[in-house]
Amino acid sequence: MKFFRKLFLLFLVSAFIFVFWIVMPKKSQPQVRKYIPAARPCRTPLKYAIDSADPRFNISPEKLRDVLEAAENLWEIKSGLNLFEYDPEAELKVRLVFDERQQQTYEAEQLEASLKNLDTQKASLEKQQSALSGEYDKKLTSFKKEVEKYEKDLKEYNEEVSDWNNQKRTSEEEYNKLKKEEQNLKDQFNKLKKAEAELNAIAKKANTVITQENKIINSYNSAVNTYKSKFGSSQEFEKGIFDPSAGIIIYQFKETSDLALTLIHEFGHALGIEHVENPKSIMYYMIGEQNLDNPALTAEDAAGLKSACQL
Ligand SMILES: [Zn+2]
Repeated sequence: MKFFRKLFLLFLVSAFIFVFWIVMPKKSQPQVRKYIPAARPCRTPLKYAIDSADPRFNISPEKLRDVLEAAENLWEIKSGLNLFEYDPEAELKVRLVFDERQQQTYEAEQLEASLKNLDTQKASLEKQQSALSGEYDKKLTSFKKEVEKYEKDLKEYNEEVSDWNNQKRTSEEEYNKLKKEEQNLKDQFNKLKKAEAELNAIAKKANTVITQENKIINSYNSAVNTYKSKFGSSQEFEKGIFDPSAGIIIYQFKETSDLALTLIHEFGHALGIEHVENPKSIMYYMIGEQNLDNPALTAEDAAGLKSACQL
């Protein structure tokens, strides 16, 4: 059950990640050349500037510059050309526009964190419950043995008392022995009462833990349902676009790594490279199978670069 839930959560998270699209508006293709001279393209650096970055993205201008520079590098190293240059006066602008897409990303992240937290709490309660249950079983076994012994001793004592009453035994020594046995039985009984109270206390504690556990499970299920209703259905939206008239606009990213990948992709469009068919390619129309931690150009990306820059 636990594994299933984890798998389900993983599925939800993956479903959310994989529906992000990077789109190049269809109309842009004929205008791409606006930035690229037809003769000897890519020999003059394409100048660009950061126009604006909504503070809700929580990325500093310095960090954004770093990511942009890393995005430049991938194309520049491959071509051996200085393809891009940062220039505050440049016509090509980069903008980070905050809308419901990034808002949803934050909400999804919060829900994921709360699900993770609930899972941790549940695991801790399960551990407590299992320890209590083990303790209870152990104490119950020894309690049952002691009850058996008590009942046996009590039976023997009653028989002895019966013998005494029938005048079979009359000595004072015998009487004292019975008195001693009686006290012993009383002690045993009190001990049993104490053990019984201890068992009940453990059971009560275990029930409290189970109640807490059920509450956590309810919260977890409710959070999963929220996640499912908000992010479970297929949501296709753009992470970013390149539009020759608007420039590069970024709408959504989860981490620096997917921001970098989106920027590399949009820089590719700015160079005049179109989408390619390999899902591992930077210039594939969708993010998903590319190496986020170590983005690299595929043969298809390289071919696109070669063609666009007439290398
Ligand atoms: Zn694209």
